[in-house]
Amino acid sequence: AVFSAKSYDRTYLDQVREQHFPELCTIEYHAFALSEETVPLAQGCDAVCVFVNDTLDERVLRALHAYGIRAILLRCAGFNHVHLETAEELGLFVANVPAYSPEAVAEFAVALIQTLNRKTHRAYNRVREGNFNIEGLLGNTLHGKTVGIIGVGRIGLAAARIFHGFGCRLLAHDPFAGEEFRQFGTLVDLDTLLQECHIVSLHCPLTDSTKHLINEETLARIRPGSLLVNTSRGGLIDTTAVIQALKMKQLGGLALDVYEAEGELFYNDHSGEIIDDDVLMRLMTFHNVLICGHQGFFTREALEEIAEVTLGNLSD
Ligand code: NAD
Repeated sequence: AVFSAKSYDRTYLDQVREQHFPELCTIEYHAFALSEETVPLAQGCDAVCVFVNDTLDERVLRALHAYGIRAILLRCAGFNHVHLETAEELGLFVANVPAYSPEAVAEFAVALIQTLNRKTHRAYNRVREGNFNIEGLLGNTLHGKTVGIIGVGRIGLAAARIFHGFGCRLLAHDPFAGEEFRQFGTLVDLDTLLQECHIVSLHCPLTDSTKHLINEETLARIRPGSLLVNTSRGGLIDTTAVIQALKMKQLGGLALDVYEAEGELFYNDHSGEIIDDDVLMRLMTFHNVLICGHQGFFTREALEEIAEVTLGNLSD
């Protein structure tokens, strides 16, 4: 049996299981995230199947191991939330879905940027109140702008292709970049990218060296009035520093699909507590800030791919 947390992709897992792996397993679906509080519900299962907002720290892993769990199936690419040393020590098999529809996330990053650029979020709210006034909604044309992509892996490259189609000039920073980006633009150091770009899009993983890559110091060097979009991991941005940069109008707009403290907010949605996050509330006071709850990957096509790879990992 497999314990499946936060199961909004149930239909896809069921379909793939029935079509390709009917004998492989039974799946127990749970609507909430895995956490220290919910981990006892995994008792009796052989594997847990989790997303990016489930807790897989040392304590949770030890508890899972004590309940006889042998495999952790991640239905996501990133595994910065898994305490890998503990998993290894306990002999837990950990598998991720390394690549699924990079276009889904790249398209979402572009959609967020275009929403900020054209203020469609504000227009939507106005028209719902019967107000067709466009005052204050003056936008920016994306064509001809300089876009900086930090991290040109699968998603960063997919974003580069789209921005290239929009007629943008492209710069990228990636210490391990392959050759592919060069057909769209120029690889530069981080400072050049920050100074020259109207739009900065983050697509690198969260590691010890990229944590708070966007901080007070780097924000001071960013081109004044530029837009920052993060669809990668919340920890790449020092959120307090970003609030200050928005206040000073150093940043012209911010779009986040990922938020530094999103794990805690996900935990709250099971416990039913009212979310009390000062920093988030402060961010939401800005008209030029757009925040989503980690939905970049959330397309039918991506969920289908995720289900296939996840159950494939289990059958291995
Ligand atoms: P990838 O491994 O294909 O690409 C990451 C790139 O970042 C690589 O080219 C790597 O060289 C580069 N990089 C590493 N360190 C860097 C640094 N210090 N500065 C600049 N670049 C650096 O990964 P991917 O599939 O493109 O995914 C990128 C990130 O997107 C993932 O790490 C994950 O956190 C995030 N993601 C978000 C969602 C979502 O729903 N919002 C979905 C999937 C992935």
